[in-house]
Amino acid sequence: MQKSEPGLSRITNAAMTIFSKIIQGSIPSYKILEDERFYAFLDINPLVKGHVLVIPKTETDKFFDLEDDYLSGMLVFSKPIARAMEKVFDCNRVGLSVVGLEVPHAHLHLIPINSADDLNFNRRKLKLSTEEFEKIRDRIIAAMEK
Ligand code: 5GP
Repeated sequence: MQKSEPGLSRITNAAMTIFSKIIQGSIPSYKILEDERFYAFLDINPLVKGHVLVIPKTETDKFFDLEDDYLSGMLVFSKPIARAMEKVFDCNRVGLSVVGLEVPHAHLHLIPINSADDLNFNRRKLKLSTEEFEKIRDRIIAAMEK
C-alpha cells in the first residue's frame, strides 16, 4: 500500500470514501495525473471513451463545499488533461459535469463530447476491457507530454 496522502492521514481506512482509497492506492485506478492536491483517473463506467474523473485529496462531499483554492485549483489542474483529451479523441470539446449522487467525495467529470447527449448520465455506460482502459490512459498521458 502506498504512503497515505497528507490530507487523508486522519481518516481511518474503513471510513474512507472509495475515491480516497483510490488516492491512497488500496483500490487500483487508471491514473492520468496527480499533484499534491488533486488526482485524475479514468471513470470505470465511462459514458464515452476518455471519461476522466478529477478529485481533490480532501474528503468533502459536495463540490461547492470545497475551499475556494481547491475549487479554482481543480480547473487549473484539469486544463492540461482536457487539452490532451481534445487531441486524442474525435470530439468537439471536453464537457464538464458535477453530479456526485453516487460517490460522496467531490469530483469533476471531464468527458469528450460531440453533443449534449454525451453528458447524459442516464445513458447506458460503456464496458471496456483492461487493455482498452490502459490504451486510453496511455494516449491521454502521451498527449499531455507533447
Ligand atoms: P457521481 O457520484 O458523480 O454520480 O458518479 C460517480 C462516478 O464515479 C460514476 O461515473 C462511476 O462510474 C465512478 N466510479 C464509482 N466507483 C468507481 C471506482 O471504484 N473506480 C472508478 N475509476 N470510478 C468509479
